[in-house]
Amino acid sequence: MSIRLSPAVESLVKALGKLPGYGPRSAQRAAFHLLQNRDESLDELAAAVERVRRGVGRCRLCNTFTEGDICPVCLDEERDPGLLCVVESTADQMALDASLAWPGYYFVLSGRLSPVNGIGPADIGMPLLLKRVGAGVEEGVLREVVVAMSYTPEGDATAYYLIDALKKRWPQLRVTRLARGLPAGIEIEYTDLSTIANAVYARRDACEVVRGPSGLRPTAAKPSAFVAKNDHC
Ligand code: ZN
Repeated sequence: MSIRLSPAVESLVKALGKLPGYGPRSAQRAAFHLLQNRDESLDELAAAVERVRRGVGRCRLCNTFTEGDICPVCLDEERDPGLLCVVESTADQMALDASLAWPGYYFVLSGRLSPVNGIGPADIGMPLLLKRVGAGVEEGVLREVVVAMSYTPEGDATAYYLIDALKKRWPQLRVTRLARGLPAGIEIEYTDLSTIANAVYARRDACEVVRGPSGLRPTAAKPSAFVAKNDHC
């Protein structure tokens, strides 16, 4: 006869097993760790989960997670109100913002469209996005929407849907996608061929690369002293 977990522990293992990156074995290991370290792990986790459950909601302007009605990014008046970047997740938003390349605001979708899993436009926050873009266009401030979806099948499908929805409603609005570029710090020879090909297709004027597209903040990887000598740029 095999040993069975108590119903309470079993429900904890089941809940942990639903987290990304957790399988049944790692969920069980994490559950036992929590039980063995009650004070420093279990109680702390329970308190943090409860705090998030009660206090964190969605920003009513950009849909990201926030403790107030409007998130700190939407309240940042230093950003350019003419630029809106649509991302798939708060993690993508944080990565993009850490690059310091984006001077505008964001809209954070709740994931990607996935018809196979029954995830449609309303599930990922598309109506709120269209409302936000509509308000920006009506006020005459919004100039460009960047559809910053990943280049995966579901990311592409979401981007196409979004571009179509935006262009149908506001044909004059500039809608762009991120260039498919070479990853920073990776030798070209070690880059996969489709990335290299896409980087070639999306190539830009060299001076534009040195200066950065107009209106954007300097990036973290600012041109070196060597680049500064290129006065023709
Ligand atoms: Zn916000």
